[in-house]
Amino acid sequence: MRITDVEALYLRLPQIQARTDSSQDALLVRVTTDAGIVGWGEVDSCPWAVKAAIEAPVSHTIAGGLRQLLIGEDPLEIGRLWKKMYEATLYCGRDGLFVHAMAGIDLALWDIKGKALGRPVWDLAGGKFRDKIRVYASNMFRFTPGETADRVRWCKDQGFTAAKFGWEPFGRSDLAFDLRMLEAMRNAAGPDFDLMLDVGLVWDATTTIQRARAFEPFDLFWIEEPLHPDDLEGYGRVAARIHQRLAAGEEECTLRGFKRLIDEGGIGLAQIDLTRCGMTQALAIAAYAASKGIPVANHNFTTDINTAASLHFLAAVPNALVLEYCVEPSEISRALAKNPFRLEDGCFRIPDSPGLGVEPDPALIEKYLVRQL
Ligand SMILES: [Mg+2]
Repeated sequence: MRITDVEALYLRLPQIQARTDSSQDALLVRVTTDAGIVGWGEVDSCPWAVKAAIEAPVSHTIAGGLRQLLIGEDPLEIGRLWKKMYEATLYCGRDGLFVHAMAGIDLALWDIKGKALGRPVWDLAGGKFRDKIRVYASNMFRFTPGETADRVRWCKDQGFTAAKFGWEPFGRSDLAFDLRMLEAMRNAAGPDFDLMLDVGLVWDATTTIQRARAFEPFDLFWIEEPLHPDDLEGYGRVAARIHQRLAAGEEECTLRGFKRLIDEGGIGLAQIDLTRCGMTQALAIAAYAASKGIPVANHNFTTDINTAASLHFLAAVPNALVLEYCVEPSEISRALAKNPFRLEDGCFRIPDSPGLGVEPDPALIEKYLVRQL
């Protein structure tokens, strides 16, 4: 079997809001083979730039696009192809955008391998530790405590047992506003529903320590990304002084980056986005986290390709905590898959069909595909 094409398909809602909400568009990767097997991946990054990283022609041996490296290759040799892409993009890659693009291709190759062998991806990754995993509803904060509390009630009504709220307007103003927000959320949630807080990178270490102490009555399941991801010293200080679990990792896409966050930042949960790291590297990151006694979760604010990849990943590692599932109402995110996941007792079942087990709806791709900006 040989790879015949690698395509980057950019989908975008007609109206994009300037919020930290990556459910509003999607960059899908489609890898086709001469055996008729098609693999799907996804990249959550700067979509048009990822498209260029995939489609660019060769410039020289360590600065070229990814597609031209893969045409004619055997898609089953995933580890070798990952290394080939990494070495051929040393000037422009090694982290960030090109690794994101590699992640989308890597997911598509795992999908192809599973389909070719008739096995689910978790099986290829070493087997599964669980048949289902708890899912938390991932939301943007609403702009008032009352609206956010309504959203907590909506999450409970949908059958979730946990929900996360993130980014603006939380943390941007005074402590009193944040306390009103959390009080409204906890009152709406009741005592037996887990709430996670995604701060959105707006505080320094001292502010984080002060606020985390003030937030203790609200029994947060974790506090996510209060600091800029480069502030490893700050993360280390926070981790040593707060009682809540400290979560981070969604900006990282390499094992190298996660090692820094774990060893220097002292985080208590590694959040791995399969559409930035890929399956191959996510498994290595999870193994490193496990060796340090740290659980992993996925990061997922995009489509069910990400959800499916995350389910296979979290099934196949011993140290999985929960699954993030974006519930923002973007049609691209929530209606792309012809076979969407259904909540059962607050959990998703681990898919058993070959590959990633998710098939994008061609009609939805056609509806939102951007051919030219
Ligand atoms: Mg986050």
